Amino acid sequence: MKRENQLSGGDLPEQATDQARPGHSDAQVPADWNGGARRAATEALVVRPRRLRRTAAIRRLVAETAIRPAELVLPLFVKEGIDEPQPVASMPGVVQHTRESLRKAAADAVAAGVGGLILFAIPAVKDERGSAADDAVGIAALALEDLSAEVGGDTVIMADLCLCEYTDHGHCGVLTPDGEVDNDATLERYAEIAVAQAAAGAHVIAPSGMMDGQVRAIRTALDAAGYGSVAICAYSAKYASGFYGPFREAAECAPKFGDRASYQQSPPNSNEALREVLLDIDEGADIVMVKPALAYLDVIGRIAATVNLPVAAYQVSGEYAMVEAAAANGWLDRDRIIMETLTAIRRAGASIILTYWAAEVAHLLG
Ligand SMILES: [Zn+2]
Repeated sequence: MKRENQLSGGDLPEQATDQARPGHSDAQVPADWNGGARRAATEALVVRPRRLRRTAAIRRLVAETAIRPAELVLPLFVKEGIDEPQPVASMPGVVQHTRESLRKAAADAVAAGVGGLILFAIPAVKDERGSAADDAVGIAALALEDLSAEVGGDTVIMADLCLCEYTDHGHCGVLTPDGEVDNDATLERYAEIAVAQAAAGAHVIAPSGMMDGQVRAIRTALDAAGYGSVAICAYSAKYASGFYGPFREAAECAPKFGDRASYQQSPPNSNEALREVLLDIDEGADIVMVKPALAYLDVIGRIAATVNLPVAAYQVSGEYAMVEAAAANGWLDRDRIIMETLTAIRRAGASIILTYWAAEVAHLLG
């Protein structure tokens, strides 16, 4: 009897154990719970999980998850035609950089120990095919060259690849005459942009447009242009999410009509995420990503348990803005929540986290 109690965790009183097992023949029901039974239950408590939570030192010793700066990637915005960094109102602390302030922010983040940077560029002039995205003297190419010169030897420079920052209609692809996003025509543009980004110094191309076949098109184009060693981090499971709201102000990429539900993933679906991830791996992805992070921890966990390459997660603008806004009102402990959310994303299985707090957290962790 006593041995069975120990195996079950030892914190059930004998009475409860016996009642839970009708037919258990040698039951000895204590007459007085406050006396003998309670003593018996306490004596049986050899397993006490609280022993490993008693001091900060022991909690640190047994921590299953840790955040390392090298696993954090800082998203950076650069805008053409501004003289001073422009604050993004819905993302306090985040700015659209000038080329000069971008170099400084990148150098600071890399000195703090972040693992990588991902660049989003906003051109002064947009058109229907997003010509500025692969303009060799456009803001995207110039800023990638700046980053490459400033920190290229010390960090991983990632280039977000999409058309929405560059098109006048704000969609992630080129349009058919009736205003639909033309998947296959878009792939041709993505291929051209990937080669331009690699030529400008990107180590990793990160396609975020959720077009079918985008990874294959980019891999083929990079290889053909002699960039076989440039990696692809695919936004494989990018959900059509309300959490992107503040980003659209930062990247000036809100669609002028309609929404992105016909190409981004549907929030109720997790099988579909796995399908997208496996397709991207087949097509040559080196890293797969889930976006957003906090509302999709189950998807991160499922993918991390299934695939054998790095899984990235993007803690998006809305996740950042919610915490900053609540903290500004004194409603929660900002620093604690930042670490708790990053830990949750890491614990779910992401080995790389894109977060606007990357540099700050890297400084904090020293
Ligand atoms: Zn896009």
